[in-house]
Amino acid sequence: MSHKVPQIIRSQVARRAQFKCEYCLMPEELSFLPFQIDHIISLEHGGGSEIDNLAYSCPHCNQHKGSDLSTFLEHYQDIERLFNPRIDQWNGHFEVSSGEIRSISRIGKATVKLLRMNEPERLAIRRILAEVGLYP
Ligand SMILES: [Zn+2]
Repeated sequence: MSHKVPQIIRSQVARRAQFKCEYCLMPEELSFLPFQIDHIISLEHGGGSEIDNLAYSCPHCNQHKGSDLSTFLEHYQDIERLFNPRIDQWNGHFEVSSGEIRSISRIGKATVKLLRMNEPERLAIRRILAEVGLYP
């Protein structure tokens, strides 16, 4: 959801993220589609548009995340929240191997799953970028 965020805030969020998706680390300049402003805690759940609740996101991550805050892991009762770029360190929850994003925590696992970070098409693009040193 990208509405209600003024352009100056969008620019600040993009610069803070160094123009990379804060979930999958895809660089915007290598993406075919424009990046979006993600409300980490969605408006639907009462989150606001203050900069501390915003993240820079590729359209794939943002689309799959939607307004969700969590998902389940092994069982329906096994709920885990999603990665929050404002309070979590990326390297504490994920690692990259040949373009594949691997989770190293429960939060990472929930996020890789829900945001479908390793969908075949996305993985194929990241593998090519990794081979030429452009990812991560
Ligand atoms: Zn992404």
